[in-house]
Amino acid sequence: MDRYYAHAAPRTSRSLLLNEAGSPVRWLSWQEAALAVMDRNVAWSAGETVTVLRGGIQRDGVRSLLTLPAVVALRMPHDVPTRERAPLCNPLLFKRDRGLCLYCGEQFHDKDLTRDHVYPRCRGGVDAWENVVSACRACNQRKGGRSPEEAGMELLAVPYAPNRAEHLILEGRHILADQMEFLLAAVPSARRGRYARDD
Ligand SMILES: [Zn+2]
Repeated sequence: MDRYYAHAAPRTSRSLLLNEAGSPVRWLSWQEAALAVMDRNVAWSAGETVTVLRGGIQRDGVRSLLTLPAVVALRMPHDVPTRERAPLCNPLLFKRDRGLCLYCGEQFHDKDLTRDHVYPRCRGGVDAWENVVSACRACNQRKGGRSPEEAGMELLAVPYAPNRAEHLILEGRHILADQMEFLLAAVPSARRGRYARDD
């Protein structure tokens, strides 16, 4: 088999892996995408080319090229591990809440945000997506071990658990329009507006 190398530096864009039904599964590195394409595991693909890999000169004197598309649907065994819920961690939480404190509405850097438990942990509140919001230190301190109602502090948005597609959006960088289309199709319609591109 040909050895391929990335044409110029591989771009930061990754390929979005879908199952054959078109549901987003995860991001593929260009190496993973290349293996899938070479193994002819691709059921179908869509979108622009994110990476061109140049291989060796073939017998007919033509250099072989391997193009990696933005969106790749693979023939996969049905037991491909996929996680429906995103794991809860602060970087994703702060991204979900767009860097805003959900009490005062101000924008902060990650280092100045905290994970606030809407219904306090000391009273049995769970550490789960639906019970946590981004809060600045001042608001978190002011609220203390009280519920928003008790503290007289209004929550600016209802916390929710990002599904798999939303997780991929939150952890993605340089998401291409072709990829966003498939991701947004798997986001509950009421939340699609949150992920509108702002570039
Ligand atoms: Zn605040």
